Amino acid sequence: MRMPTGIACGVMSLALLFLLTPAACTAGWSARDDSDTLTQVSTIDALLQGVYDGVMTFETLRTHGDFGIGTLAALDGEMLAFDGRFFQVSADGVARQVSDDAQTPFAAVTFFNRDLEYTLPEGLDLAGVESFLDSRLDTLNTFYGIRIDGAFASMVTRSVPAQKKPYPPLTEVTAKQNIFDFTDVSGTVVGFRCPAYVAGVNVPGYHLHFLTEDGRAGGHVLSLTISKADASVDVTRDFLMLLPDADSDFYDIDLTPDNEDALEQAEK
Ligand SMILES: [Zn+2]
Repeated sequence: MRMPTGIACGVMSLALLFLLTPAACTAGWSARDDSDTLTQVSTIDALLQGVYDGVMTFETLRTHGDFGIGTLAALDGEMLAFDGRFFQVSADGVARQVSDDAQTPFAAVTFFNRDLEYTLPEGLDLAGVESFLDSRLDTLNTFYGIRIDGAFASMVTRSVPAQKKPYPPLTEVTAKQNIFDFTDVSGTVVGFRCPAYVAGVNVPGYHLHFLTEDGRAGGHVLSLTISKADASVDVTRDFLMLLPDADSDFYDIDLTPDNEDALEQAEK
């Protein structure tokens, strides 16, 4: 997390109009380091419309971050990464590490650096965790990496099966998703809180995935209850969007409609 050097610099340049060049004024901003960039592959609305072909290998994805969430080519399960390890949670709920040559059609990653840490009150549900964190964040207008480590009295996740072409839209797949119920489970929740203005590009609000402590199960989080857990937050102010290569279905779909209802149905 960095201070708003641009503002300080602006004030200073007014005072020292003839001493500071504009180049000096941009220096603070350009010096922001890559580790505070959320890098995203494709868009959530393309995924909603069934653009599931892999467009980036995990070998390349990991050069953009050691932490994040997404899916795999053909929508083959839920993906999460933390501490540099990338996991796939298949439709049967089983987790395994992702090989470097696997590909993703949609992912968001960053290099996770903890800026804030909170102990979450016992008994909080997912909505409670979201409002607990929201009320403590300085602003809801930037991106946050969210990591929760600990014990959960309950955890409900889902995963989705790999699809065949012609790919159905995401809401058709999630209507038949497999749901997994965990009780008294330890593990790690990984994801992001994105600002409302990313609608169409990513998921506004919280989007979280889970992996059990033994690394063998997990999925996309639908609900949870905190038993004893700490939340770490990485304030992330830079956003890089990487669109697929020219031969992708991405360029043949209509991305003008508002898909908010479909997103709610598919992800919440
Ligand atoms: Zn998800």
